[in-house]
Amino acid sequence: MNKDIATYFARYDVPSEVTSFVDRPIGHHVGGREIFTGKGEIDLLEPFTRSRLTGIANGTEADVDLAVAAARSALNGPWGRMPPLERQRLMLRLAEAMRSEAVLLAHLEAIDVGKSISEAGSIDVAGAIANLEYFAGWTSKIDGRTTNAVALPGETLTYTVKEPVGVVAAIIPWNFPLQILSWKLAAALACGCTVICKPSELTPLSAMRVAQLAAQVGFPEGVVNVVNGIGHVIGQALAAHKGIDKLSFTGSTPVGKAVGKTSLDTVKRLTLELGGKSPVIVTAKANLENAASAILAGVFLNSGQVCDAGSRVYAHRSVHAELLQRLKAGAEQLPIGAGLDPASRITPLVSSAHRNRVLNHIGSAISEGAHPVTGEESGTVDRDDWVLRPTIFDDCRDNMRIFREEIFGPVLGVSQFDDMDDAVDRANSGEFGLAAAVYSDNVNETIRLSRRLKAGNIYINAHGLLDPAMPFGGLGASGFGKDMGPEQLDGFLATKSIYVQIAGDPPLDEDHMEKAR
Ligand code: NDP
Repeated sequence: MNKDIATYFARYDVPSEVTSFVDRPIGHHVGGREIFTGKGEIDLLEPFTRSRLTGIANGTEADVDLAVAAARSALNGPWGRMPPLERQRLMLRLAEAMRSEAVLLAHLEAIDVGKSISEAGSIDVAGAIANLEYFAGWTSKIDGRTTNAVALPGETLTYTVKEPVGVVAAIIPWNFPLQILSWKLAAALACGCTVICKPSELTPLSAMRVAQLAAQVGFPEGVVNVVNGIGHVIGQALAAHKGIDKLSFTGSTPVGKAVGKTSLDTVKRLTLELGGKSPVIVTAKANLENAASAILAGVFLNSGQVCDAGSRVYAHRSVHAELLQRLKAGAEQLPIGAGLDPASRITPLVSSAHRNRVLNHIGSAISEGAHPVTGEESGTVDRDDWVLRPTIFDDCRDNMRIFREEIFGPVLGVSQFDDMDDAVDRANSGEFGLAAAVYSDNVNETIRLSRRLKAGNIYINAHGLLDPAMPFGGLGASGFGKDMGPEQLDGFLATKSIYVQIAGDPPLDEDHMEKAR
């Protein structure tokens, strides 16, 4: 093991099972076992030390073919024949295995993404387990419907059945690798599909561990597969593959658009969960203490690397000064440090390339005239570390990049408004529609605003609440389709309509058809 990693692990008493998991090359998980194929290795770096953690298999199209064959054969074999209640038991066993390995999984997220280990435990691991448990319950509740035909002559039986859509590819981003894997995996398994997951090459560890646990608790081989490698190789091969029936993608809008175009060539079912630039409206009637703390949590969680981060605040002129002062004070108190330090809230960004992208946004906010309130004061890339201080700009205008583009880092922009209609128009401007938040103690005002804001998820006096029973997904350039909630199930099911002509009826003739018309 690399010396810097060993020292880092020793400083935070990292359990030995974490060391054993990463102190070896990481392959793919295909057909129920780990395989080491592909073109050599990709270095996996730990974001706080910036040192090599391990090497992961650099997969090729041939690895995707292997995974598709394994997933197809499981679908046509034991998994396809398994009664729903048995699937439910397996999913609950997987959730239980993850609970018993919660410490390992939280460490894997913390050293892979660089995120706070406290958040990894309370949000990522707990959320992933809850999601599996919730969808386990759905396995036994997926029904078609029997209907009365309304225009057919004679006696018929007409009903629908819901069948698994088939082999699912799940492409996962690096910000919440375990949780977003669980969003796709749980619903797909509940519907009886088999899954090939492609984690980000930056964060493959938790997906590999979940696939191993699935094998250990008894999932038939080929039901849960992971293929590692570079996005534009493995992700592209999955999007183009004829043997894949459904693609569920979470990631950036530009990559999502490309993946969507490719997947249409083989007419795949498609879900796209993409980027955001979520507005936050703070009205004159807001409780500012609550608003400031929820806004800070909503934008600086995971060091700002959150798709629905509330990153542009519109504050009513009467509350703007006090809100800004509270935001500044709160941001300056957030503990900054290593992901493995349980006290840290702001931790390194995922890579040096991403740190540079965020710094570039900070530089543009400064050059476009936004007023720096706290945090980073320059967009210059003259540093080694990947940690950026929570940064706030005031006097942001809607045409500035800081108010138009997704930054995906610890950067918050603030602006003022006088007129509510104007605030709504400004909040609704832009291409995204993932989330929006409203802060007000007036219930009528919050309900009215929740109806006027164009976003898939609306938060009232809070930000970033997630629950497995609630669908999550965006509008506009934030994508389509839902993760979580019963609404997600349809994305993994094919509905078949069955018509039965009851024997003994006269055959259809033109007269019957005419009457039916
Ligand atoms: P990317 O779009 O860069 O990557 C997402 C996934 O796609 C990764 O697994 C990546 O692999 C893979 N990929 C990259 N290139 C291709 C390609 N040409 N074909 C197929 N797959 C490819 O996003 P990030 O990982 O940087 O994640 C951040 C983005 O995700 C943000 O825009 C964020 O808003 C969005 N997101 C959306 C959420 C939602 O629910 N709406 C939730 C969380 C994040 P690799 O990393 O190996 O290149």
